Amino acid sequence: VPARNVSARVAPLSSRLVLVLVEDRTRERRVEAVRRDFVANVSHELKTPVGAIRLLSEAVAEAADDPDAVKRFSDRMLVESERLGQLVQQVIELSRLQADDPLEAPQPVAVDEVIDVAVDTSAIDASAKRITVVTGGTTGLRVLGNAEQVAAAVSNLVANAVSYSDPDSTVLVATKAEDGMVEISVVDQGIGIPSREIDRIFERFYRVDPARHRSTGGTGLGLSIVKHVAATHGGEVRVWSVEGQGSTFTLTLPQQADRPSHLSGHHVSD
Ligand code: ADP
Repeated sequence: VPARNVSARVAPLSSRLVLVLVEDRTRERRVEAVRRDFVANVSHELKTPVGAIRLLSEAVAEAADDPDAVKRFSDRMLVESERLGQLVQQVIELSRLQADDPLEAPQPVAVDEVIDVAVDTSAIDASAKRITVVTGGTTGLRVLGNAEQVAAAVSNLVANAVSYSDPDSTVLVATKAEDGMVEISVVDQGIGIPSREIDRIFERFYRVDPARHRSTGGTGLGLSIVKHVAATHGGEVRVWSVEGQGSTFTLTLPQQADRPSHLSGHHVSD
């Protein structure tokens, strides 16, 4: 046992009890360390666009008599403020998820509707790259959960598929039900993820090679939101990827069982 985990207070207790306490304190410390890291990361990530916006607004003021420069700086300000907005929204989403953990009062959620919203939300980015988003598989499925959370998870997966795909490619969103679970798969033909990075992409703020992705303007929080949603729902998220060929993310959530037939309205009495 590392010395830092042992305190004088636990020393007189039986060996079994010491072990339990040591474990508890280790977990507590880990949770505390994760929280501290998160706050430090959020502060750092927020300072970058805020600093950029401040510099850019000074630059705009100084370039008042150069319309081209003003246009360039203000376009850049728009990009930075959109990034800031996205970051703030995702941080709020994550902290809400943590408050909701575990899920209270799950409700039936129509998977088709969630996918439609996710596809619509990505439509502008997709059409800018002439990416076709196709949906397929079993329709009419419902999962048991929180509609907002499920929507956030699926939207993040579809947005990533579009962001990390080359122009003129196809993204497929497919659904199926198996063993009481619904699988929502998002398949892209994009840049893929190097196998050495695949374990880390679900970490908060982790981005594979930020320089390569600078133009996508992501936050590194999307997949940690997806992972959290899977966890609160008792589901999971899996990924397969080949660098340079594409990725498949599969979100598995508990299926809302069909209503019994005597309640379905097809029954004719007499
Ligand atoms: P980001 O806001 O950067 O997209 P995410 O948490 O959603 O953050 O994803 C983390 C990282 O995982 C991304 O920066 C990217 O490097 C990688 N990634 C996620 N989805 C895909 C995908 N469909 N194809 C390739 N890389 C991906």
